[in-house]
Amino acid sequence: MHRRTLLKLLAATAVTGCGRGRPESRGLRVVVAGAGIVGASIAYHLSLAGAAVTVIDKQAPASHASRGTFAWINATWAKQPQSYHSLSQDSVAHWHELQEALDLPVRWSGSLEWFTNGERQQKLASQIAEQIEWGEPARMIDSNEFALLEPGVLFEPNSTAAYSPNDGTVNPIVATQKLLAAAEHLGATIQYPSELTDVALANGRLVAVETSTGRIAAERLVLATGAAENVLTKMAGVEIPQRTRPGVIVITKPMPRVLQRVISAPGIHMHQRDDGRVILGEQDGAPQNEAHALRLDGRPNDFPSSVIAQEHASRMLAVAVDFAPDLEAAQVENVYIGWRPLPIDGHPVIGSSPDRPDVYIAVMHSGVTLAPIVGQRAAQELLGDSIVDSLEPYRPDRSFEMIKRY
Ligand SMILES: Cc1cc2nc3c(=O)[nH]c(=O)nc-3n(C[C@H](O)[C@H](O)[C@H](O)COP(=O)(O)OP(=O)(O)OC[C@H]3O[C@@H](n4cnc5c(N)ncnc54)[C@H](O)[C@@H]3O)c2cc1C
Repeated sequence: MHRRTLLKLLAATAVTGCGRGRPESRGLRVVVAGAGIVGASIAYHLSLAGAAVTVIDKQAPASHASRGTFAWINATWAKQPQSYHSLSQDSVAHWHELQEALDLPVRWSGSLEWFTNGERQQKLASQIAEQIEWGEPARMIDSNEFALLEPGVLFEPNSTAAYSPNDGTVNPIVATQKLLAAAEHLGATIQYPSELTDVALANGRLVAVETSTGRIAAERLVLATGAAENVLTKMAGVEIPQRTRPGVIVITKPMPRVLQRVISAPGIHMHQRDDGRVILGEQDGAPQNEAHALRLDGRPNDFPSSVIAQEHASRMLAVAVDFAPDLEAAQVENVYIGWRPLPIDGHPVIGSSPDRPDVYIAVMHSGVTLAPIVGQRAAQELLGDSIVDSLEPYRPDRSFEMIKRY
């Protein structure tokens, strides 16, 4: 790592509020299971605070949801109630700090969003009014302003869209890798493929974790295992009700700029990164049929063949071209299936297991948006610095109600 990057890292220690920790927390051995963007951020913040961190992943960094994600950073989209909106806003702010400290590929473009369904559009407008009251600089704009902000996207005259200027996007794979590299530079060990298989307890306290590559002595375990099935029950002794859903993400080859902002149009989400690649995400999911159901059994992250992957990409590109005709020239580079880690109430699960106080859970949707703040605040709690009030609504022992936010 370059000297300049190291200096930035050390500066970030002050900026992020994650000091070198209490003396007794220095050297605390923490295993982070899961090297997605959430685990990587927790590992980075723990390492900054002086913990002895080992990150393990059963496959590889950013190989699951943090690869097959749309990677929109926002505090606006369905971020309710206000406490959740504030947590997301804090994370957006922390993204800016991490971007500066670690040179992360974040693009702050703002977003434009609208629906053709009258009821959903009305709800969007009322949510934006609420967001304004909460201090978000979002607003509804008309088609004239839309044309100025997004000249390459067709938009019905006399329509309105929500404009959220604070939103951004990130290359989630590169961000995860850079967070891990920074943690490693601060002393963390990154091991993969290495699967967490069990926990070893003595008098109810954690003494080690068992992995497919051997035993690791540890005083704390973080489960940042995303949508993986059965891990929380086995390792933390808690049942978290989830309604994990798949989504298809298409990444094109680099192309001249077509899109200025995040576009959340009816049926399709799209944005274009600074490297020229356009990212497409589905709004409502692939058509439900038997072939899909069979294909999705076992939660694959890739399609069984490039032909099927291309079929899905073509289906989504056709919707995108209706809005952005210049995407006709797009060539597909990758098609991924992502599985959303999604507790049934749509909110994150963050905190120690009620049964095993040394096992800390960090499982969530909107994990790209939330990774920075969750990393910082989870590290604070894990190292015993304090109980973070803003995380109280997300504890694993809350009562879960089915709420569809996405
Ligand atoms: C289609 C789609 C679109 C999305 N769009 C957005 C968006 O626009 N904005 C946003 O903020 N969020 C979005 N999300 C959600 C976001 O991507 C996730 O919340 C986030 O990536 C979760 O990160 P994670 O690190 O918790 O999980 P993951 O990235 O899934 O990482 C979990 C890791 O745990 C590892 N693991 C599992 N079990 C074990 C084990 N036993 N031992 C060791 N390792 C294990 C896995 O190999 C994996 O690498 C989207 C998700 C999807 C699927």
